[in-house]
Amino acid sequence: MSAELRNWAGNLAYGARRVHRPTTLDELRAVVAGSDRIRALGTRHSFSAVADTVDDLVSLEAMPSVVEIDAAGGAVTVGAGVRYAELARELHAAGLALANLASLPHISVAGACATGTHGSGVRNTVLAGSVRGFELMTAGGELRTVRRGDPDFPGLVVNLGAVGVVTALTLDVEPTYQVRQTVYLDLPLGPALDHFEELVSCAYSVCLFTDWASPHFTQVWVIARTDEPEPKAPGEPWFTATPAGRDVHPVITNSAAACTAQQGVPGPWHTRMAHFRPEFTPSSGAELQSEYAVPIRYATAAIEALDRVRGDIHPVLQICEVRTVAADDFWLSPAYGTDVITIHFTWIPDESPVRDVIRLVEERLAPFDARPHWAKLFEVTPEQVRRCYPRVPDFASLARRYDPDGTFGNAFTRLYLEGTIA
Ligand SMILES: Cc1cc2nc3c(=O)[nH]c(=O)nc-3n(C[C@H](O)[C@H](O)[C@H](O)COP(=O)(O)OP(=O)(O)OC[C@H]3O[C@@H](n4cnc5c(N)ncnc54)[C@H](O)[C@@H]3O)c2cc1C
Repeated sequence: MSAELRNWAGNLAYGARRVHRPTTLDELRAVVAGSDRIRALGTRHSFSAVADTVDDLVSLEAMPSVVEIDAAGGAVTVGAGVRYAELARELHAAGLALANLASLPHISVAGACATGTHGSGVRNTVLAGSVRGFELMTAGGELRTVRRGDPDFPGLVVNLGAVGVVTALTLDVEPTYQVRQTVYLDLPLGPALDHFEELVSCAYSVCLFTDWASPHFTQVWVIARTDEPEPKAPGEPWFTATPAGRDVHPVITNSAAACTAQQGVPGPWHTRMAHFRPEFTPSSGAELQSEYAVPIRYATAAIEALDRVRGDIHPVLQICEVRTVAADDFWLSPAYGTDVITIHFTWIPDESPVRDVIRLVEERLAPFDARPHWAKLFEVTPEQVRRCYPRVPDFASLARRYDPDGTFGNAFTRLYLEGTIA
């Protein structure tokens, strides 16, 4: 099969010699056992080369789309190729829910968990936080089960695909719930930063957007559970920000047709927790992305540092989003050991000027131990990566134990995890 394949944004052509699409576990085992170097591929939504390889890629999209619900046990087991959108629909139909979603529900559960993908909420961890256990196919095709509570679990659950092919994951679920999503427009940075903690913890999930044209958050998306106290009566101003009188896109000039329902109208969790509707399925994206996690104690200082270079950021930016993620103990998680804010940038699709501004942003965020998102574009050196992700050397040892021959490594993992160019 031809290996001519690009990621969703089109900025990366995978260098794989072969792309395999097994349809059964036995076929997957044969593919894995028959390859010296192989990487699992999810839905190709990563902007970095984290999923890339010059050897074999194996996509699980043709594997059975397993969703097995254990309502009594509060769990669901999914095939690793399953996307959040289909999982969410099935869970809701069964009266169940996940704690959180990323901004886009089209991504695979395995790919999202492998890269420390997250949504927002001061009490919400990365999506891998809901993983109870998973099945891992190691070199040779052997299947191993890793469960929460096992000593290796915190090291393995966010794994960049570097320890094997995850074939299934079991996730925590809870009774389904309703949320209201209200978007407030135009919150000046001054009051936002003066009341930052109150702002980001005023509801279950809060997301702040700015285009850095001026010192304002252009939009504040407040997602409140209806089974928790309302942050504000719908329709009231939030500090000086006022509720949008219509549904809006984070980039205000774009059509809101792709966005989830707003204006405080209650609805099921999965129809509002992500920013974009599952039925809106862009096959590719005219954008690039970067993101940095910063310990929440540095939130205001980090945002002020970016405000000082907003004149450089604005021309190459589509939108910047600030979210919160609760601390965990997953070695490669952006929230390892500390609550964080995440500062995300959706850039214009012009890599050369964007890379210059990425370097500037990283220079400004360097004093705040900023951790780059593994799946997005970054320029920080391997040494800096290992400084801000302190458990990288431990992960590299663990990966060698599970994958002694480096079957699942690639240039990205060798560079950032091992510090070697190969
Ligand atoms: C429009 C858009 C919005 C986004 N929004 C968010 C967001 O809100 N929050 C956020 O944190 N990120 C976000 N991202 C980034 C995205 O969540 C990550 O790129 C994520 O990894 C995508 O999953 P994927 O299935 O596309 O993985 P891929 O890009 O295909 O692969 C990513 C990594 O996962 C590994 N992997 C995939 N499947 C398996 C498997 N079965 N076994 C082992 N390893 C596997 C791959 O080897 C690779 O290392 C967004 C990306 C886009 C394009």
